[in-house]
Amino acid sequence: MTNMIDIKQNLNLVEQQISQTCQQYHRSRQEITLVAVSKTKPFTMIEQVYFAGQYDFGENYLQEALLKINALRHLPKITWHFIGPIQSNKTKQIAENFSWVQSIDRAKIASRLNEQRLGQDSALNVCIQVNISGEESKSGVAVNDVFPLAHHISGCENLTLRGLMAIPEKQISSESYHIMGELFAKLKDKYPQIDTLSLGMSGDLSPAIAAGSTLVRIGTAIFGEREYSAHTTDMNKG
Ligand SMILES: *Cc1c(COP(=O)(O)O)cnc(C)c1O
Repeated sequence: MTNMIDIKQNLNLVEQQISQTCQQYHRSRQEITLVAVSKTKPFTMIEQVYFAGQYDFGENYLQEALLKINALRHLPKITWHFIGPIQSNKTKQIAENFSWVQSIDRAKIASRLNEQRLGQDSALNVCIQVNISGEESKSGVAVNDVFPLAHHISGCENLTLRGLMAIPEKQISSESYHIMGELFAKLKDKYPQIDTLSLGMSGDLSPAIAAGSTLVRIGTAIFGEREYSAHTTDMNKG
């Protein structure tokens, strides 16, 4: 199955799509980081993507991610982003194994990550996950709770607040992208180190980049459809 996918070609197509969308909306390609979302995919595929020049990877499930992180310790430039829901009993391993956590949605999780990052060489880069899809989605803080949480995180010395992340529901309006763009600008006014608006996946690069996204998280368009085999499902329980 997996060798039927031409990863290098997929990556080139995604790269082209990002560049063209940047041109269309008068953005510079350099403003946008591509994170390849590798959940359910084997580390051998990640290695292929890495050797094609893509170094940032996103994972959603801790146990699955740890197996791949350990298998790929020989790749010096690899950068791991945790982008999934966070249970509080998992924060220690997240703090110790990732460079970024994009899915912070409560103060308690931020505090735990802060304590457990102590002793690492660098601060943990974090984003606040915002719920712009309303009640259907459980993950993320409401727009009104972003500033209080940002204030809490800015007091955590082992965390660097880098910005905001959102996962829009498929049927969401362009208005919601616009709201994220404005929230990002306001937060940046208050916290000058903020530089990351993590918005845009395989199906919505264009409205995300139009709204000011600086980081896109692309899974399917690079790795193909996800494979929820018994094996990965097992790993994802932990
Ligand atoms: C799975 C996932 C992605 C990638 O989605 P695709 O549609 O496959 O590109 C991006 N962000 C998050 C948070 C995800 O869970």
